[in-house]
Amino acid sequence: MRPFSQGIGMTSQRTRDRLVQRLRSKGINNNAVLEAIGSTPRHLFVDEALASRAYEDTALPIGQGQTISQPYIVARMTELLLEVKPDKVLEVGTGSGYQAAILSRLVDKVYSTERIESLATQARQRFRRLGYRNVRVQHSDGSWGWPQFGPFDAIIVTAGGADIPEPLLEQLAVGGRLVMPLGDRLRQILVSVTRTPTVYERVDLEPVVFVPLIGGGV
Ligand code: SAH
Repeated sequence: MRPFSQGIGMTSQRTRDRLVQRLRSKGINNNAVLEAIGSTPRHLFVDEALASRAYEDTALPIGQGQTISQPYIVARMTELLLEVKPDKVLEVGTGSGYQAAILSRLVDKVYSTERIESLATQARQRFRRLGYRNVRVQHSDGSWGWPQFGPFDAIIVTAGGADIPEPLLEQLAVGGRLVMPLGDRLRQILVSVTRTPTVYERVDLEPVVFVPLIGGGV
């Protein structure tokens, strides 16, 4: 590796370590999640012009009116999913691919859907280039889930809506967990749903702001 690019890599590692400390101070305490965030190059999931801000704990634009989520929210949602020890996870809203990349380090298989084709294609290229082999991306309306590969042990919806799409509840395995922001366009509340053999148990967590889920299965 050329000394110049090595220098950049080392700088990113230091700023990533600082981000991990910040997330710890905000209450994230799952070490596997912190480790995944500490070793995932978020600067490669945003436009080059924004790369210098990639390790701030903030959402950033990724084009097409969409955003890469704030690292704290990625960590929080991932932590909630891991509580049920999932092997197979469905993500609705691939966006930049960052959330899927974090998950791919923590579970066996990640299925991620994105309704904007250019984002799906770009994310796929990133996974290929960075060697994430257990993530599969589909350009589709994820509010219908991805029935071919369901049921899923965990489902993460990274876009907000008024209700949880019915197909996603159906494709959640018994014992599985779904997390999604529920609310209107301006603000939502992060909700965790666990499927037991008889019911869906819902817990309302913290306020969040996500771009809207747009789809027919809602
Ligand atoms: N998880 C992403 C954040 C993406 S923002 C990341 O880590 O970068 C939310 C994404 O959800 C947007 O890219 C948007 O296009 C997508 N989206 C919205 N409605 C969708 C739907 N019905 N199916 C699939 N993707 C959807």
